[in-house]
Amino acid sequence: MAESLKAALVDIGGTLWPNSWPVRATDGEGRLARLRALLPDLPLESATELAADIITRSRDLNGGTVMVPELIRIDADELITLCLNDHHVALRPSLVMQVRRAMAIPIDGEFQPLPGARELLATIRELGLRCVVASNTYWRDAESYWDDFRLLGWEDSIDAVVTSVDAGHLKPHPAVFELAVKAAGVPAELCVVIGNKEANDVAPALALGMQAILVYPDDPPPASTGAQAVAADLWECAIALRVMLGR
Ligand SMILES: [Mg+2]
Repeated sequence: MAESLKAALVDIGGTLWPNSWPVRATDGEGRLARLRALLPDLPLESATELAADIITRSRDLNGGTVMVPELIRIDADELITLCLNDHHVALRPSLVMQVRRAMAIPIDGEFQPLPGARELLATIRELGLRCVVASNTYWRDAESYWDDFRLLGWEDSIDAVVTSVDAGHLKPHPAVFELAVKAAGVPAELCVVIGNKEANDVAPALALGMQAILVYPDDPPPASTGAQAVAADLWECAIALRVMLGR
């Protein structure tokens, strides 16, 4: 019964923040600086080549983008291991994970989540639901997201974070949702998935016996959906949640 919902499993890209944001001139510099901090003994030229190789190969091997699940052929840790070996960088415990996090572009102070994101998170709290992020990513793991959420002041609004990097599979694979349900600590039937993709969010939610709200604050309106509710923006989504809970 929707009245007994206990948790919201919330997508990030295209849901709480934009599907993508402009590439900044400083992105490459930031990646290089973070990589050099991890590998201080590596000469500048070698570090520059390594960073460029990781990014170029992540695009070449994954269909020109790192964000379309269907096109991803190699996961980030495997790719980084390959690159570190090719560049004769000695592996040490945690290095692959640290390099992966260094490749993620951190949000900055000018970054704007989608309108209504904060209000939706506040509504989830007000309704007494657990809030678990369930997100497809390439470089980011849960810890990377916590850095972002602290910067946004969202850390108290979110109970747990599960990414495809942590789960080892991209949505729509059930692994991300199964881990997110576990993190929510309630049965799947008491969870509602909030996301912007029918195939990656709504379909797997329904398959696992969850409810779903399809949102499109950064996408064209959907032609059809199996979701229990559809919301054009995040304020509408908050209302849809209240309706589902009868509040
Ligand atoms: Mg999304």
